[in-house]
Amino acid sequence: MSTESAAPTLVAGRECGTCTMCCKVMTITYMDPPKPGGKWCQHCSPGKGCAIWQNRPQGCADFNCDWRKNAQLNDDWRPDRAGFVINQAAAHLPYEIIVDPGRPDAWRKEPYYSVLKSACLIAARNRTAMMVLVGHRRWLMLPDKDVAIPAEHYGSDYRIFRAAALQGGEWQVEFTAPAKAS
Ligand code: SF4
Ligand code: SF4
Repeated sequence: MSTESAAPTLVAGRECGTCTMCCKVMTITYMDPPKPGGKWCQHCSPGKGCAIWQNRPQGCADFNCDWRKNAQLNDDWRPDRAGFVINQAAAHLPYEIIVDPGRPDAWRKEPYYSVLKSACLIAARNRTAMMVLVGHRRWLMLPDKDVAIPAEHYGSDYRIFRAAALQGGEWQVEFTAPAKAS
């Protein structure tokens, strides 16, 4: 979405270039009509850029994926090369791996999968997990497995825990109903 660097949180010199992956994979609710995830934005010229760049929505102008912000991710991780966008919607929320439906197994390939799994261990110790989104499907990545999220739990909270050693010490997830608005 963004092709200029300016924000101090961005890695110096890391530009979007010809990447337009977020203009495909992201669900964009502020657009009229809302843009569904996994489909190209009507304004995007894939691999070129945004046809309404000067007048793009503020949300698009403000968006930067994790590759632009995280110096630990090298150019293999540029979203159009990797086949997915890594995003953290807010500092208190877990990372999401939002995959191009045209390359649904991209997140399981190397050099990505093993690095993502290493990050999963850190996340699990903090009792959270990265979520993988591929079209309408969802997974939670745990250090030792990937758990397909049942559709009825897409909006649910969850609890990450490690089973007792006698049970193999496996990481497990328990879905809980989201809190009802009062
Ligand atoms: S996915 Fe990231 S690198 Fe690619 S266009 Fe969007 S913000 Fe730029
Ligand atoms: S309006 Fe432009 S920047 Fe925003 S999603 Fe569409 S093509 Fe991308």
